[in-house]
Amino acid sequence: MHKQTGAIWVIAEKAGDKPAEVSLELLGKARELAESNGVPVAAVLLGNNVEPLAEELIAFGADRVYLIDHPRLELYQNDTYALVLTGLIKRHRPETVLFGATYGGSELSATVAARLETGLAAHCVDLRFNEAGELVQVVPAFGGTVLCDITCPESRPQMASVRPGAFRKRERDTSRSGEVIKESAAVLDGYRSPLKAVRLVRHKPPGLPLEQAEVVVAGGWGVGPEAWHFLEKIALELGGAVGCTRPALDEGWVKDEGAMIGTSGKTVRPRVYLGFGISGSTHHTAGMKDSGVIISVNTDPEAPFFQVSDYGVVADAKDFLPVLLEKIREYKGLDKTTRR
Ligand SMILES: Cc1cc2nc3c(=O)[nH]c(=O)nc-3n(C[C@H](O)[C@H](O)[C@H](O)COP(=O)(O)OP(=O)(O)OC[C@H]3O[C@@H](n4cnc5c(N)ncnc54)[C@H](O)[C@@H]3O)c2cc1C
Repeated sequence: MHKQTGAIWVIAEKAGDKPAEVSLELLGKARELAESNGVPVAAVLLGNNVEPLAEELIAFGADRVYLIDHPRLELYQNDTYALVLTGLIKRHRPETVLFGATYGGSELSATVAARLETGLAAHCVDLRFNEAGELVQVVPAFGGTVLCDITCPESRPQMASVRPGAFRKRERDTSRSGEVIKESAAVLDGYRSPLKAVRLVRHKPPGLPLEQAEVVVAGGWGVGPEAWHFLEKIALELGGAVGCTRPALDEGWVKDEGAMIGTSGKTVRPRVYLGFGISGSTHHTAGMKDSGVIISVNTDPEAPFFQVSDYGVVADAKDFLPVLLEKIREYKGLDKTTRR
């Protein structure tokens, strides 16, 4: 068994001219893990002219930032990033390497783990060290009905990708000091890539972003296509946003992929979460369990979702939703002419 002695690395991502939220969340968790084991936390930042971001990474918990600045790292590209990062990990031999389970992070972590011939647990929802000093990587398993602990006892580094929103970032502390180490990307000089990333286009979904909504009105398979529009109307009346489960997205009742809540989707912590026709698999609840007040409606009195709910209503969502909309409108005092 390995004792956790080496550094914990967080592979940082950029969002515009700032570190991505998930990277700051990972630094917060890495700090917590490091403090229980007395090991350093390092952030790794690849990009072009990214040095100004190093201070932010230190303010959010890094003791050290490995900076690899190179024009060919301007945009994320799997082959160039994996080449540089694999070399860096081989040189410094961190014990633990954490990635955000973003599109890029999921791809990069898998490529790097394969090249290093080590293990990777993907889409983790929690991390801790066990008594042997191994990183316990918690992922939903068996259709989301259980949370599974994964360890990597035989090889190093132990690597995990962690879903955005799983951890909270720490308070920004500009009094923290840290070391910035500039690393070479000379390995790219002799490398001809078959790809060229040209530009990054960000899609901005309409309406209030789900993660920022104080009220989330979520629907699952039990709502069905005919009653779905009630969720949207209720969300509008309450100034909230609509979320959904995997089946509702797969069925096309929701067009925006960003509306899915859970291990493969968003993590939300609204003040009020209303869930209709949702069974309560851990794949979904992992993304909303920290909401303020959770209210759910389900025809099945034994539905697991009731276990994480503060208030549960055993009812048919198709009957319940129009009545709820009516009551909200009545409460708000809107007359029929202003109704949509
Ligand atoms: C690797 C992996 C990742 C996944 N990631 C996610 C994820 O991020 N997010 C996610 O949501 N899922 C995810 N899933 C799918 C997840 O496991 C569940 O299958 C899914 O969350 C179930 O969605 P649901 O509750 O809408 O449907 P169901 O499980 O089919 O539940 C429907 C519920 O509606 C109730 N119901 C039926 N009719 C009515 C009615 N008329 N009124 C009221 N209630 C009614 C039923 O009693 C039931 O409880 C993932 C699965 C895998 C394998």
